[in-house]
Amino acid sequence: MLDIALKLLDEITSYGFQAYIVGGFVRDYILGIESNDIDINTNATPKEIKNIFDSCLPNEDYGSVTVIKKGVRFEITTFRKEMSYLDNRRPSQIEYIDDLYQDLLRRDFTINTLCMNKDGEIIDFLGGRSEIDSRVVKTVGNAKTRFEEDSLRILRAVRFATILDFKLDKETRDAIIDTRELLKNLSYYRKKEELDKIFGSSNAAKGISLLLDLGLDKYLELDNLDKVTCTSSLIGVWSILNVVDKYPFNSNERELIKNINEAFLLNNLDPMALYKYGLYVNSVAGEIKGLDIKNITESYNNLIIQSRRDLDITSDDIMKGLNKGPGSYLKDIYSDIEREVLYRRVKNEKDAIMTYIIKNYKVEN
Ligand code: ATP
Ligand code: MG
Repeated sequence: MLDIALKLLDEITSYGFQAYIVGGFVRDYILGIESNDIDINTNATPKEIKNIFDSCLPNEDYGSVTVIKKGVRFEITTFRKEMSYLDNRRPSQIEYIDDLYQDLLRRDFTINTLCMNKDGEIIDFLGGRSEIDSRVVKTVGNAKTRFEEDSLRILRAVRFATILDFKLDKETRDAIIDTRELLKNLSYYRKKEELDKIFGSSNAAKGISLLLDLGLDKYLELDNLDKVTCTSSLIGVWSILNVVDKYPFNSNERELIKNINEAFLLNNLDPMALYKYGLYVNSVAGEIKGLDIKNITESYNNLIIQSRRDLDITSDDIMKGLNKGPGSYLKDIYSDIEREVLYRRVKNEKDAIMTYIIKNYKVEN
């Protein structure tokens, strides 16, 4: 991946422009972490980049261009200066500039300002390297000003501290506390994107205690955050937080959250609960309660049936046995025999099930 990127830099610079890999990729490279997207900055304008590469996807909103080379996505952004900010979030005006240093000054944290040139050499104008080595998240410039410009940076700071297991620099930390109420102006969509990364991290426990220590839970309207103790699953965290009415979730997430909260109220080793909600939902619900997942998995694997298809009987068999046509009565019979088979009161064998059905449902003429 790096070799493809360096070739791309070589190509851009062969036209007389400057071009560097910047930000997350360089940071992660130094830390030995694999990253899957590469950001490039250059003094070429988006138009000039489009003239160099045939296959570009323009990202009009941000004045950057995406180039895909050998299946790798490169986001190529022109050096810029962000002038003034609207709503603590969107720069109201962007000015393209010719100066790498100025471009680095607008970036959020020093650890995100390292560049790599086409020869693979690291360029460090703002001391980012020493902050990576000492594992510190520190804003570029005055912390309070930077958070006031863009309050998303507050959550990005927590995200990097969580994912990379870094500390927050003292001034950066104090400024987060000073400006935290600006989080209210941020869209729930943006907040969720960052929170997903924090809660989905293998170091989520640290992220959650950071959010609590910084008092951000109140401004993020996450009233249950202090109740999130022992779940390793992202959807488990959101289920405890129970904020589906505020934060945006897709229908799949909503369904899972609903089911997890229902399964939470049940005994997750009970055959009926396992059958109805399945292994995954019961495991997440069980984990929230501190149950041993091994036991849940074992109970699930011991179920006599895991779905209706596993019953050794068909609707046709039932209708024939009862001498009746189709009807909603079949649904009730199915629920009944599922339960009887799951609790091992009736064997999952056609004859046994049929005997049970005839005994309980046959109407003698
Ligand atoms: P990752 O891709 O691993 O999430 P990243 O550091 O690459 O992390 P991106 O969101 O891809 O983060 O942004 C690329 C670079 O753009 C960052 O490294 C940073 O230099 C800059 N950047 C991104 N968002 C902001 C922001 N809100 N304010 C200032 N600079 C930012
Ligand atoms: Mg990135």
